[in-house]
Amino acid sequence: MAKLLIIGCGGVASVAIHKCCQNSEVFTDIMIASRTKSKCDAIKEQLEGKTATKIQTAQIDAMDVAALAALMRSYAPDAVLNVALPYQDLAIMDACLEAGVHYIDTANYECEDTNDPAWREIYEKRCKELGFTAFFDYSWQWAYDEKFKKSGLTALLGSGFDPGVTSVFSAYALKHYFDTIETIDILDCNGGDHGYPFATNFNPEINLREVSAPGSYWEDGRWIEIPAMSIHREYDFAEVGKKDMYLLHHEEIESLAKNIPGVRRIRFFMTFGQSYLTHMRCLENVGMLSTTPVEFNGQQIVPIQFLKALLPDPASLGPRTVGKTNIGCIFTGLNDGKKKTIYIYNVCDHQECYREVGSQAISYTTGVPAMIGAMLVAQGKWQKPGVYNLEQFDPDPFMDALNRWGLPWKVDENPATVE
Ligand code: NDP
Repeated sequence: MAKLLIIGCGGVASVAIHKCCQNSEVFTDIMIASRTKSKCDAIKEQLEGKTATKIQTAQIDAMDVAALAALMRSYAPDAVLNVALPYQDLAIMDACLEAGVHYIDTANYECEDTNDPAWREIYEKRCKELGFTAFFDYSWQWAYDEKFKKSGLTALLGSGFDPGVTSVFSAYALKHYFDTIETIDILDCNGGDHGYPFATNFNPEINLREVSAPGSYWEDGRWIEIPAMSIHREYDFAEVGKKDMYLLHHEEIESLAKNIPGVRRIRFFMTFGQSYLTHMRCLENVGMLSTTPVEFNGQQIVPIQFLKALLPDPASLGPRTVGKTNIGCIFTGLNDGKKKTIYIYNVCDHQECYREVGSQAISYTTGVPAMIGAMLVAQGKWQKPGVYNLEQFDPDPFMDALNRWGLPWKVDENPATVE
């Protein structure tokens, strides 16, 4: 019996909303609040009559803390699920503190205007101190820990697939398979084909910024940064086949390095086809990935935002995408003094997702864990005052829920490793 306020109404939100409505025993009431209310109303119309969950909608600017807090006070939810954009994380956390509501998101804070001098100063200090240059990091949200503790509220950070399920896989491996984990390789394989020469599977701005940034990994207590796409491996994924994958910086490396005791190395690899990479390099070379506004015909435009307007809407890829994803973690370590290697992973089929909730697998693999994280917090199973990443909670209820809500996982006890 829980009431959830969902902020954002894009690709990931749509899946989370469908899943909450399938799970109406827990989510008796939801409110969908986003920038464009017509999108919220369209989903409400689509689901009403097919679910026992009562759905309300609202227009909200998620950068407006006062308006958010007022909405939270009037709706009085048990928790807020932030599936808008990482730019809004801090505003929504501030509003949760003001209104006294638990907080869940799927991606860590990123500044929308990376030329903002106040943000740049802190960013550049962090680059020097920590040694990675990604525009996003956990420091901004971890800094809220004391405030959430004092308010008796839980903030659950990164309840998507990666981060999210990969974080839970890590806690599960540590709890059930290892005395110590030495290395973690997170593999994100999308074997799906949407038939377009170039499109991104989730928000293009966030996706292209992530992929075009330098890669980095954690080894022996420090970050090692490498030029974008400069470490390449091939891996043979179960149910997908052989794919090229590249080492990227990814946000869960930062929290796992802190929360998995004694871990020596953590890397993240994502698969990309050659066509995607060629398009991305070209767009980067001509300046289309820039976040710095340029003046065009008397108007200020941000190149990457203009590009987003030209690219296919990720939400429209669902009907066209065929194939499967295989996402998981290879763990090596010691158990009872013996070396051990396992791969915990999920395989998800784009077309099956589309038939079930009208979305492709990338939105599905993020929206399902977003619902599960919100459920565990709202039910009180994962409540602890403060700001936490998913690997800091007991993984078992989350792992059970993955099997129940559409993302069944497997453990391969003899996987190929990545060199
Ligand atoms: P979309 O761009 O499809 O959706 C974002 C939604 O947020 C849109 O509905 C948009 O409104 C709304 N929004 C944006 N700005 C505001 C604002 N100021 N006020 C209110 N609403 C706003 O993105 P996705 O669904 O693809 O991604 C959602 C989140 O999930 C992102 O944070 C992304 O980083 C994260 N993610 C996490 C993954 C994981 O595995 N952990 C994987 C994939 C994504 P409008 O409709 O008007 O544009």
